[in-house]
Amino acid sequence: MINEAYNFPRIEIDLQKIEENVRKIVELCDYHGIRIAAVTKLVCGHPELAAILANSGIEMLADARIENIKRYVSLDTPKMMLRLPMASQVDQVIELCDVSLVSDFEMMRLLSESALKRQTVHKVIIMIDLGDLREGIYYEKDIQVTVDQARELPGIQLIGIGTNLSCYGGVMPTQEALEKLVALKERLNTAYDLDMKVVSGGNSGTLSLLINEGTLPKGINHLRLGASVLMGIGLNDEPINSLKQNTFRLVCEVIEVKKKPSVPVGEIGLDAFGNKPVFEDKGEITRCICAIGKQDICPSDLIPCDKGIEILGASSDHLILDVTQCEMNYHIGDAIAFDLTYGGCLSLMTSEYVQKYILPIDD
Ligand SMILES: *Cc1c(COP(=O)(O)O)cnc(C)c1O
Repeated sequence: MINEAYNFPRIEIDLQKIEENVRKIVELCDYHGIRIAAVTKLVCGHPELAAILANSGIEMLADARIENIKRYVSLDTPKMMLRLPMASQVDQVIELCDVSLVSDFEMMRLLSESALKRQTVHKVIIMIDLGDLREGIYYEKDIQVTVDQARELPGIQLIGIGTNLSCYGGVMPTQEALEKLVALKERLNTAYDLDMKVVSGGNSGTLSLLINEGTLPKGINHLRLGASVLMGIGLNDEPINSLKQNTFRLVCEVIEVKKKPSVPVGEIGLDAFGNKPVFEDKGEITRCICAIGKQDICPSDLIPCDKGIEILGASSDHLILDVTQCEMNYHIGDAIAFDLTYGGCLSLMTSEYVQKYILPIDD
């Protein structure tokens, strides 16, 4: 049932499902001795959601953007900076976060300096690139030099190493890759007389490995989890069994319904985004326009809940649907709902024009 009493367009957030997901994940990870950083970037650091996550048995909250972390500074839960800090934001990172992921001595030097100014010690986890070619130190020799230099910095504490997989290069988290990481931590601790404890084994893709194979290498004791907690998805955005999906839904409002041809009439130039549009001639169809557009979401990230709907496309502010096959007769003012991909959810959460609506929890 669509609740008509709120603004359109809105993204409806099913907190009950998210709470269920986080409860299950915490239970499983506890059992395997894994601590969780709950990642809030998908919801842009939404303060109510962050508060719920903070109270669900996770160890820390994490985000890639300082602006998002600012939205929940008032929570006592430790906070982790997920993206390599920007040199221009080092002071803010020291002020607002307890832990950072880093990959460079120069950044650690800046963090240390800023931490000393504030008379604090900042924790860092050194990122190792195991082949996905996003952030992280790549060569073992570079890792050793960096660790050797970093341990002399008085304003930071090296608490562990970590990696990120299946994000950019699509490299899969495997038992083998993660075993390398665990072994590397041991080697570094021995070689440089350190006591690093954390091995942060990745994101929701790594959780898929734990759930599907039932195990991770012993020694992986930390994961940074966003998509799995918030949307029940893991590796390749595939649903994780035992978790709830469809935790977010877009509801938008119909502003026009008319029978029209399926192919534009007149000479075809470029569309609003500089592309030459292509059309399939299906004769006359019932076209429906909703008040949302590419400024808020890419139409390919929308999955109609009414299976009769076909998405034809969108311009900046208009979403155009073929509703010819629908059983329901749509009218101006009706609400239409869509399930979302990860990217779709992210862009709707980012759009100022979309109301963020937490569904009331029914008991
Ligand atoms: C986004 C991100 C995560 C969380 O990824 P999910 O797939 O949402 O679980 C973990 N680590 C880093 C460094 C990230 O940028």
